[in-house]
Amino acid sequence: MARSVLVTGGNRGIGLAIAKAFLAAGDRVAVTHRGSGAPEGMLGVRCDVTDQEQVASAFDEVEAAHGRVEVLVANAGITDDGLLLRMGEEQFRRVVDANLGGAYRVAKRAASSMLRNRRGRMVFISSAVALSGGPGQANYAASKAGLIGFARSLARELGSRAITANVVTPGFVTTDMTEELPEDRKNEILAQVPLARFADPEEVAGAVRWLASDEAAYVTGAVVPVDGGLGMGH
Ligand code: NDP
Repeated sequence: MARSVLVTGGNRGIGLAIAKAFLAAGDRVAVTHRGSGAPEGMLGVRCDVTDQEQVASAFDEVEAAHGRVEVLVANAGITDDGLLLRMGEEQFRRVVDANLGGAYRVAKRAASSMLRNRRGRMVFISSAVALSGGPGQANYAASKAGLIGFARSLARELGSRAITANVVTPGFVTTDMTEELPEDRKNEILAQVPLARFADPEEVAGAVRWLASDEAAYVTGAVVPVDGGLGMGH
């Protein structure tokens, strides 16, 4: 049955691959963007997830067109790397506010629709770095680790209403975000990946689509790695 799906940051990168996977399955797919517009076949809503009012109006727009959001994928995220002693408070706060605060804002709004429907799926895009940590990524890793505690709390709060909340932790995925890393840093990471390659965004999308499917109805509070083995043991 076609569902109303919302993917934040679904205009490019991993989010776009996720949105396309739901579209291919026949769902009604909406994506947030900050000016780029939406790919063909999807509803685009302008929304910066750091702004509560924009989140509220984006949901209103999606729900007017597609009905109450049944699947939420909180994917929007940023990095702003730097070593701790050089990391300004604003640099720390900005990343946490986008990655963790953004997830809070969209999940809260989605939960009210899902509670009325008495079913729903939330998937949070975290990172392998949430569990392993990463040099120069204290702000990013903290925000991504925070998503795990956040999702698991929702899993407990909302589980009795058939709403699941799960986390996906991708390793290194080829997108604009990773494109900007220096070549030697990329090679350093690659050397630690048992599958000896980086992921395509579509490989993350497959796991997300499964977590939102009927087959995963009894899976909640899970942290699912899609990382080529990079995070094994964490
Ligand atoms: P990209 O940089 O390619 O895309 C980031 C997306 O997030 C864009 O759609 C961007 O929108 C959106 N976004 C950023 N900030 C905001 C905001 N404040 N409000 C709304 N949208 C926002 O990144 P990826 O596709 O690589 O990453 C997607 C997610 O996956 C992120 O959460 C990232 O942390 C996570 N991840 C990525 C990995 C990788 O190796 N690439 C590994 C592990 C996790 P816009 O186009 O408007 O800028």
